[in-house]
Amino acid sequence: MAGPYKVVSGKTYSLFGIDTSTDLYFTTMRTIAESLLGLCPDQRSLLLHVQKAGGVRIKKGSGYALDDVLIGYIRKTLHDLLKPYTRSVKEHLKSIPLSQRFDKIIRTQQERYHLYMLEIELVNRIYREAFRKSAYKFALLPHCLRDFRPQCKSVPGEMEYVCTGCTEDCFIRLGSQLLKKYGIQPYISITIDQGKLFRRLKAEYPNIGALGIACIPELAQAMRLCIKLGISPIGIPLSANRCARWMKQAYETSFSLEELEKLIR
Ligand code: SF4
Repeated sequence: MAGPYKVVSGKTYSLFGIDTSTDLYFTTMRTIAESLLGLCPDQRSLLLHVQKAGGVRIKKGSGYALDDVLIGYIRKTLHDLLKPYTRSVKEHLKSIPLSQRFDKIIRTQQERYHLYMLEIELVNRIYREAFRKSAYKFALLPHCLRDFRPQCKSVPGEMEYVCTGCTEDCFIRLGSQLLKKYGIQPYISITIDQGKLFRRLKAEYPNIGALGIACIPELAQAMRLCIKLGISPIGIPLSANRCARWMKQAYETSFSLEELEKLIR
């Protein structure tokens, strides 16, 4: 990992774990996925097992027979290897104010974080090629990466705000440059109703791929929404969840530019 990264702790998770870089997290995710694919070589079947472990009802007509022993093994493996990254979840769950008790993202349990982490890795593997071949590719970068910059000079674009590159080390600027190099149109995500936005884009561009950068629960949920709407999703989790939704005000966070380039090159 190069350059501008600072070790940060999130409200519930940090991909730095107990390390000084997020590299180990991404290596761990690849190792877990490879090892589970050794037991269940069909990526889509493994994804359904992971979703079932997280409480998703899998339709009978899915064509896949789900194995409870594998589901139990997935849960245990993830807990053992991923708990260093989600150490703050339990403390956070005890302190959720009444006003946020019904917010599904805010009350995500520790096990669910681990399942989402693997889900993101598997969705990237399954949809990467379809994303690359999409006629129109766009990316949504989270507005929290610029929230604490009162001087932000982003401007309204075709569908969301776009970065004008006013600040040298801003992660939105760095991410946007990289995305453009690979023919992906970057936007700063402001819209709350992503379902409406994605439906409109799908109607406009039938062959479309979406790249998300977001905190873990939001990224996994957005990927599910894209798949449901026939949009090919890939994504990179933020290094830690530190936006105002989690911490009352936005604190600096980051994402791995190296992992982003590995995913899109
Ligand atoms: S570099 Fe872009 S996103 Fe960052 S503060 Fe400037 S205009 Fe805003």
